[in-house]
Amino acid sequence: MSKTDRVVKMYDEYVMNTYKRTSLCLEKAKGARVEDIDGREYLDFFPGWAVSGIGHCHPKVVAAIGRQSKKLLHVSNNFYSELQALLAKTIIGNSFPGKVFFCNSGAEANEAAIKLARRYGHDSGRFEIITCFKSFHGRTLATITATGQDKVKQGFEPLPEGFRHVPFNDIEAVSEAIGNKTVAVMLELIQCEGGMNIADVGYVKALRKLCDDKDILLILDEVQTGMGRTGKIFCYQHYGITPDVMTLAKTLGGGVPIGAMVARAKFQDVLTPGSHASTFGGSPIVSAAALAVFEAIKKERLLRNANRMGAALREKLEGLKKRYHFIKEIRSKALTIGVELSIKGDDIVKQCTASGLLINCAQDTVLRIMPPLTVKKKELDAAIEILDKIFARIT
Ligand SMILES: *Cc1c(COP(=O)(O)O)cnc(C)c1O
Repeated sequence: MSKTDRVVKMYDEYVMNTYKRTSLCLEKAKGARVEDIDGREYLDFFPGWAVSGIGHCHPKVVAAIGRQSKKLLHVSNNFYSELQALLAKTIIGNSFPGKVFFCNSGAEANEAAIKLARRYGHDSGRFEIITCFKSFHGRTLATITATGQDKVKQGFEPLPEGFRHVPFNDIEAVSEAIGNKTVAVMLELIQCEGGMNIADVGYVKALRKLCDDKDILLILDEVQTGMGRTGKIFCYQHYGITPDVMTLAKTLGGGVPIGAMVARAKFQDVLTPGSHASTFGGSPIVSAAALAVFEAIKKERLLRNANRMGAALREKLEGLKKRYHFIKEIRSKALTIGVELSIKGDDIVKQCTASGLLINCAQDTVLRIMPPLTVKKKELDAAIEILDKIFARIT
């Protein structure tokens, strides 16, 4: 029995089975390279669903956690922590004037945004939030309701009230869905789970105007697109607009659990003492890690690398598209890349794993490729070589 088999057996016995798992037990990693417990090596082009967005065990993050772990791990949010203050200041300095609420995950950040919107609309009797079909906003009861995909909701009814879904990139549909109970629109600028669908600039600008005209909050879920993955620190910066609320998680902690909800100045004081809280939110240890992520992105010019490597990878994938008829379309912003196929992608993902490359597939037919911001040219070449060999076997 391999070490992996032994771990799988323990899972079968003791870990609740809520995931489709690949028989792969990772033990250590550095950058885009991971090694499993039986000593096999892989190139990770989907690091933890974008959690290890600046690469696994980034030295700055590891050092920050090491230093902080000797001083203070956690304090209650009834006290102050300098690191939480510095992190909030850094997030605001990189986005828009306002304030930050800290929690521990993407779903919790979206829950906080939903609560903020409801509080804001409470006095005028507004509570409805419009989201898009194919969206993904998390796995809590409110966020599965917000998510525009039936598969995450089945069997959990009755769901909380107050969510409506409209087609993505369709401004008419949003306009028609708005009623006298609408308080917010919640949107991913790139629907990653939904198959790497990218919002049009015209749509987002029109949405911003619509929300302004009707006093409706524009909430952007940047849990996956934030922290540099699209070539700018936040994806909304490609669109020439500012959201009212933005939610973050995943890459923000560089591998440790953190979530954040950022509200523009006008909405920064909607939530008041006693109205919302998180025991772990923004603790010194995760704040130290997140500050190190910002520092790494800046000092190592990771946005520039994301743009360069994103362009290089896109060009190589376009080259493959010319040769393989089952590649329908490539959609990307820097290192957030979707390759839409006319065939199912699951088997390709499996073959990639067997060949030492980790990627993902969304919505059955879209290969999802999200290398860390630190990815190197020779790692791109190696990944393309593996994909090319696998594609050649299909034709
Ligand atoms: C991953 C993700 C979430 C949920 O984050 P969790 O940390 O798993 O709760 C929400 N929205 C988007 C866009 C995501 O990609």
